[in-house]
Amino acid sequence: MRIIVIGAGLAGLTAAWELRKRGHDVSVLEARARVGGRTWSQRLGNGAITERGGEYVFPTEFAIRRLSAELGVPILSHNVRYARRTVDGRHVSFAELEATTEQITETLRGMLADGLTRVSVEDAHREALGPDYQQHPVYRRMVTSLANDPNLVSAASAFLHDPDADQPFIDDGGRFVGGNQSLAIELARRLGAAVRLEHPARAIDQSDSGVEVTLADGSAQHADAAVIAVPLPILRSLRLGFALTPGQDAALSHRIMGTAAKLGVPLAAVDDDIALQSADLSWWSWRSLSADGEHRIPALSCFAGSRATLDALGTEAGPGRWLSELQALRPGLVIDGDVLLTDWSDDPWTRGSYSAASLDWTPADLHAFDVPAGRVVIAGEHTGLEQTLNGAVVSGLRAVTAIGAVERLTETSGGPA
Ligand SMILES: Cc1cc2nc3c(=O)[nH]c(=O)nc-3n(C[C@H](O)[C@H](O)[C@H](O)COP(=O)(O)OP(=O)(O)OC[C@H]3O[C@@H](n4cnc5c(N)ncnc54)[C@H](O)[C@@H]3O)c2cc1C
Repeated sequence: MRIIVIGAGLAGLTAAWELRKRGHDVSVLEARARVGGRTWSQRLGNGAITERGGEYVFPTEFAIRRLSAELGVPILSHNVRYARRTVDGRHVSFAELEATTEQITETLRGMLADGLTRVSVEDAHREALGPDYQQHPVYRRMVTSLANDPNLVSAASAFLHDPDADQPFIDDGGRFVGGNQSLAIELARRLGAAVRLEHPARAIDQSDSGVEVTLADGSAQHADAAVIAVPLPILRSLRLGFALTPGQDAALSHRIMGTAAKLGVPLAAVDDDIALQSADLSWWSWRSLSADGEHRIPALSCFAGSRATLDALGTEAGPGRWLSELQALRPGLVIDGDVLLTDWSDDPWTRGSYSAASLDWTPADLHAFDVPAGRVVIAGEHTGLEQTLNGAVVSGLRAVTAIGAVERLTETSGGPA
């Protein structure tokens, strides 16, 4: 079949690569002048690579690790206590982390058994950890990563349906050699001329015989099927001349988009605490291990999540206030060149950071995107519960399975194959 994939982030590129391997004629339409979407790696003035988007790949994220092995793009360790970062001089032990997570999960189960509905991440922590819950390092870590108001995010989605819940927890996240964008760049290299940069899609229509994608310049491309792998706010703004399934409409209406920013800081000196979390705001900073494992890289990465935190850090006016907060958190910091601020809420092709499950979320949403809507399949981090690089890859693989249903449809209806 001829298949158009819209979006050259990890979801779209994974789908395109797997569809190509199955013998389909694939083309990828990407709005930007680069591939990778929310993976975006850049060198700071002192040579250290910083990640402007997604950074951590965890040990049990097998889909992306399999792809990394297949394509020969290695992953190495950050060697950073991601889930046990220091807050106010304290970092929790593995045992305490496990026990606290268990305590919140059990409390949540009890709240739901008592008939409570629409329980938020904030509610579950408050109930489980008592009045000082907002000072707890486990709460601080979790709400920072949510990049959303924790009052608006479903606790059940976060604690009872975590796709990694049956895996042993290992703290040590990894990153791709040469930067996390390397995986997308290698996928695009292998796909060659099939990837068209600066080709933003505006509308998608379909009929019994095929799919039509209209580009921003008014031109149209035709295919037997399409995969739409653009971020949630962009998907909402595309003109779709057909209906999604009722389950897909419901699942999309249950998702909210988050807000986050990153700050890359080249440095000449810093304290020895590798992972420091702000005690009262949703941001933290860390320093990764070098590729040879011999030393720490001469740069700090900082992540801030949620609108309230970005406003408190004044990111709209530039990096100044965030930098002062960082200097206060790490008085030993000596900066070596220009810092790099990336505010994803300003990004025209993402319009936010990544999604979360709202209080309306239900477990039925988990399978909404296993099936096509006619000849069109939806992929991207927002189609599952992993708002990660791995989640994007998983969604691309899921899209390939769903395209199988379109293929069977075209075979039985005698359409193009
Ligand atoms: C600040 C930040 C930190 C993060 N940290 C982590 C982390 O540490 N670990 C982790 O695993 N994940 C992290 N993530 C999440 C992770 O980056 C995303 O889940 C993942 O990259 C999403 O991939 P995707 O393919 O779904 O979307 P994207 O990467 O956004 O790809 C979508 C593509 O569609 C393109 N597009 C948009 N509109 C159109 C259009 N109209 N026509 C054609 N193309 C279009 C976009 O340009 C983009 O290339 C982070 C994200 C952010 C923003």
